[in-house]
Amino acid sequence: MDFVKKLKQGDKTLFSFEILPPLKGKSIQSIYDGIDPLLEFDPAFVNVTYHREEFIYKKREKGFLEKIAIKKRPGTVGICAAIKNKYNIEAVPHLICGGFNKEETENALIDLHFLGINNVLALRGDPIKTEPHFVPEDGGNRYAVDLVEQIVRLNNGIYMDPNIENATPTNFSIGVAGYPEKHFEAPNMDADIKRLKQKIDAGAHYIVTQLFFDNKKFFEFCERCRAEGIEAPIIPGIKPIESLRHITFLPKFFNIDLPVELTNALYQCKTNEDVRNVGAEWAIAQSKELIEAGVPCIHYYTMGKSKTVSKIAKSTF
Ligand code: FAD
Repeated sequence: MDFVKKLKQGDKTLFSFEILPPLKGKSIQSIYDGIDPLLEFDPAFVNVTYHREEFIYKKREKGFLEKIAIKKRPGTVGICAAIKNKYNIEAVPHLICGGFNKEETENALIDLHFLGINNVLALRGDPIKTEPHFVPEDGGNRYAVDLVEQIVRLNNGIYMDPNIENATPTNFSIGVAGYPEKHFEAPNMDADIKRLKQKIDAGAHYIVTQLFFDNKKFFEFCERCRAEGIEAPIIPGIKPIESLRHITFLPKFFNIDLPVELTNALYQCKTNEDVRNVGAEWAIAQSKELIEAGVPCIHYYTMGKSKTVSKIAKSTF
């Protein structure tokens, strides 16, 4: 719980970042190559995303279609163990409800516990592409709050099998997601923040936000959380824009807005290098203002590219 203690002490703004497992077939070296340039900023923790299976349909004889599950980015737990082993940095695997029943979740948590990985970001996960809305597994957790409750039970030594007595408790620190621009399914911000409060009341220790480009929205979100009685540390998530494609992709994928000032600057860019410079400058300005406001940590979404995050951190930390 070291970094959670530091978050709560709030002595100085910590630096952390998120990485994605490489596509299946690629080497773990790409992970190390992404982490190495960021070590000089003394990361408090590194998050590793979890990617659910996708379903594809293959044509078979006589017009039959075969449904095949594929995982494009496996390896979350292995990468976390490798990070701890190689760098001695806290690694935080993302754990989702989707695709797991509670028994499988418990077993995954036991694996993490045995590996000495004592931090998780507890998430629901998005609906898979072929489903219009999120469908939990039979006997699985429906909302992130249910997952938080399951982890807390394990932290109290309560396993699913009631016959297990004198069980070893786990010691997970639990992060959860927050949305400064509202989760896309929530009917309004009030309802979403009440749901967030439920996750904290259930035992989550801190909040990491969805990426955003307008600090005002983050500050308003924090105020509303505090007014609702949420006292847990709130870590802003920052992503630098790196290509013109992001202008349409990020709002669509993450349900967020880009400020007019930012898009105006991006539309004037002639090359991707120009775009990266504008994106980095924007993220630097955001980071400086957030540090000034005393946020406990800034969490950078690298999406596998650490060069720009390194440039931002050099100017900021
Ligand atoms: P929840 O907290 O369960 O909320 C989901 C929705 O349900 C919200 O609209 C909420 O208001 C509502 N709600 C919550 N509880 C209830 C209730 N009891 N009754 C009715 N409504 C309720 N996805 C991945 O697949 N892999 C990742 O690695 C990953 N990493 C992420 C990291 C961060 C920092 C963030 C912000 C998101 C990440 N996501 C990831 C995406 C996330 O899984 C999706 O945004 C998902 O749609 C919601 O997850 P959640 O944990 O916020 O869900």
